[in-house]
Amino acid sequence: MLFLDELPEFDRHVLEVLREPLESGRVTISRAASQAEFPARFQLVAAMNPCPCGYYGNPERCRCTPLEVRRYLNKLSGPFLDRIDMHVEVPPVPKEQLLNPRGQQEVGSAEVRQKVDMARDRQQQRGRLNHQLSPQEIQQHCALADADRQLLETALDKLGLSARACHRILRVARTIADLSQSDNIGRSHLLEALSYRRLERLQQALAF
Ligand SMILES: [Zn+2]
Repeated sequence: MLFLDELPEFDRHVLEVLREPLESGRVTISRAASQAEFPARFQLVAAMNPCPCGYYGNPERCRCTPLEVRRYLNKLSGPFLDRIDMHVEVPPVPKEQLLNPRGQQEVGSAEVRQKVDMARDRQQQRGRLNHQLSPQEIQQHCALADADRQLLETALDKLGLSARACHRILRVARTIADLSQSDNIGRSHLLEALSYRRLERLQQALAF
């Protein structure tokens, strides 16, 4: 696992170089005389603030101008974001919850593990894990009802998403369906997968 904290603070070139191993699971290093290829299959997890000050969405505290927020988010290119399956917003923990954690209903690790194991089994029975599905296999295993396909097309147009992002959304939707032990991808699975494209929605909202 590769964890990058404060993602937009990394040099843009460094992030762009990650595109190759994220896609292929291999990295090619070229020097004057020779070229070598190394295995580089890893899971990328990254964290960032929504704006330079960190309080975007809280008008009383955020002092960033829309231009500053846009510049900050634009440090992440579309092709780089395409290769990240899920963008999730993590809101601040409310004070009451912070002071009274026992009031919350928590799902234990053992329960989560059991669900994940069951979802992985379903994938292996199809022959491959979802993240390994080729475009042809996606057509076969990630079929959508007609109305849902139209919904996905509209969302792709609205967010300006690529074919690569579309495949990633379908693989995530397939996994959400597997987690709920469902043979077909339903509308709720698709909508949940689309909800994990938060950064593109934010970039879109700030485009001017
Ligand atoms: Zn701010």
